[in-house]
Amino acid sequence: MKKEKIILTGDRPTGKLHIGHFVGSLKRRVELQNSGEFDKIFIMIADAQALTDNVDNPEKVRQNIIEVALDYLACGIDPTKSTIFIQSQIAELCELSFYYMNLVTVSRLQRNPTVKTEIQMRNFESSIPVGFFTYPISQAADITAFKATTVPVGEDQKPMLEQTNEIVRRFNHIYGDTLVEPEILLPDNAACLRLPGTDGKAKMSKSLGNCIYLSETADELQKKIKSMYTDPDHIRVQDPGKIEGNTVFTYLDAFCNDEHFGRYLNEYANLDELKAHYQRGGLGDMKVKKFLGAIMEEQLGPIRERRKEFEKDIPAIYEMLKKGCDDARAVAADTLADVRRAMKINYFEDTNFIAEQAKRFHD
Ligand code: ATP
Ligand code: MG
Repeated sequence: MKKEKIILTGDRPTGKLHIGHFVGSLKRRVELQNSGEFDKIFIMIADAQALTDNVDNPEKVRQNIIEVALDYLACGIDPTKSTIFIQSQIAELCELSFYYMNLVTVSRLQRNPTVKTEIQMRNFESSIPVGFFTYPISQAADITAFKATTVPVGEDQKPMLEQTNEIVRRFNHIYGDTLVEPEILLPDNAACLRLPGTDGKAKMSKSLGNCIYLSETADELQKKIKSMYTDPDHIRVQDPGKIEGNTVFTYLDAFCNDEHFGRYLNEYANLDELKAHYQRGGLGDMKVKKFLGAIMEEQLGPIRERRKEFEKDIPAIYEMLKKGCDDARAVAADTLADVRRAMKINYFEDTNFIAEQAKRFHD
């Protein structure tokens, strides 16, 4: 039988989705969904994971589930082609995590560079919640429960995928071939691997408050772009400017194509020409920001409009999510049955087993 091609990916409901999510993963998901090349696509709203560092703020997580779902739909995730579900509603994932915990050492988790950075960001150094510390294991459960072959994510997720593959290999080695090793699918465009925040910080992240949200109003969008971090030494228009680390140019790398020049800035043929002028001097930040503003509005305007349409029937979205949870649960339950069988903890399913035990005591 041909191996099924399955996608699993998701987002934490800690806020609305931003353009980092879009270029890092969401845009790719929609393309893959519409390519028809995948047998199944699962998109998970990771509320249980969000609670690992928002333990005292359950309301934030609760409120943001619908925000994330609306962002998905607005971007073109189609519930007839992709299963959207909520992590906490699939109890099977907890059970899988519990078994996987035996396959991972504390020192291995401590070496995870993404977890290290996130611990620093959250000031968890002196007292790390165990749930947060072990979230790479629960993420391995999420991915393997759906036998995912492909995980389209941003670069920060690379260590999670490595951890998942180690768990899969160790499990299969000990208990026999059961789980599937997933492949990470990173964005092709280098600027999209880890989109920086509007403040120039390394990563746009809900938790850092440096985001451009997909649902931003047109005014707010332009305001955020105008106040973006550029080259702090580029003070006068005639001064030469730097491209490296200049967030406006990083966003142009992520979003701009040659046609945009024809539409909004026809003195230049392409981004290389614009960059060269900026580096030479004589090109002001505001002109570049205005150009970026036009491109972003072209990209986000239709998403904003579609979101407004979906906002008209919120109960229908919860219905869709409920169905997604039911479908996802059935798949995870099948995998869990395989896992229990492999781990020899399926005592009541295996009728021979009980007969053999009886024999052992009577012979
Ligand atoms: P939080 O701050 O709560 O962790 P986040 O903004 O980092 O939120 P996640 O929900 O953790 O977002 O990430 C969801 C997906 O989006 C992951 O695949 C991640 O790799 C991708 N992603 C998040 N931020 C970026 C970014 N700035 N650039 C590229 N991809 C990103
Ligand atoms: Mg994150």
